[in-house]
Amino acid sequence: MQDYIVRATAVSGKVRAYAARTTALVEELRRRHGTWPVATAALGRTVTAAAMMGAMLKGTERLTVQIRGSGPLGEIVADADAAGYVRGYVREPRVDLPLNAAGKLDVASAVGEGFLHVIKDLGLREPYRGSVPLISGEIGEDFAYYFAVSEQIPSGVGVGVLVEPPDRVKQAGGFIVQLFPGLPEEEVARLEEAIARLPAVTTLLDRGLTPEELLQSMVPDVQLLDRVPVSFRCRCSRERMERVLVALGRDELESLYREQGGAEIHCHFCAEIYRFSREELQRLIERAAEAGEKR
Ligand SMILES: [Zn+2]
Repeated sequence: MQDYIVRATAVSGKVRAYAARTTALVEELRRRHGTWPVATAALGRTVTAAAMMGAMLKGTERLTVQIRGSGPLGEIVADADAAGYVRGYVREPRVDLPLNAAGKLDVASAVGEGFLHVIKDLGLREPYRGSVPLISGEIGEDFAYYFAVSEQIPSGVGVGVLVEPPDRVKQAGGFIVQLFPGLPEEEVARLEEAIARLPAVTTLLDRGLTPEELLQSMVPDVQLLDRVPVSFRCRCSRERMERVLVALGRDELESLYREQGGAEIHCHFCAEIYRFSREELQRLIERAAEAGEKR
């Protein structure tokens, strides 16, 4: 099944809602990075929220989400754009913790205390930056807090990943419901109640609900607008990695040449390894020398 985000609105545009199924995306990230279940859940929740935030952008706009916590996962990073392309990684993918009191993967302990940062490239000279402290480390609540405090848009956020033992991603997805100014109080109360009543997202997806049905079960009179397909894509390339090497400068490259007889660069985002032979490295040393002379 193809992953996608559905965009919707309600109450004459005063409610905007998004729901996503990201199962294939999160499974691909698990395979690429070799994440263990609690890391899969934390990374999967983060990329799912980031993907839906990407669907709030337009054209070539894109965003990066960083969750920097004191827990064993270290940093979680997700990139998403308006076209539905997403990538992400977690600093320490092999983390194992006991289940929490509710018998669930203990994402909060794996993330720890820290901050959620959002950086949006909106094509302006300076990117937009927003940061909030993590309030629970469970990620969905942290995004809700970010929207309320940093963007001043009260929002309900639910994101979830269901891992099937030993480690495969069975379901992943989520929703964001945003309440804009002018929404009557009773509508706010009705939505808050509906969101609070909702079972876990992964439970609903596992029952076979589509993202559309997820929104319909939560937002009364929701009007579905469109779908954005979601997929993994990394922006790295061999050329980009060559530029990274050239930027290291001639001396650094010559020592790689002498000591390792080549170079190997690893992309954090997709875990792809780019290898450069002795001959290729020699050419890059020449390029670096030329660049050095021009300076
Ligand atoms: Zn990459």
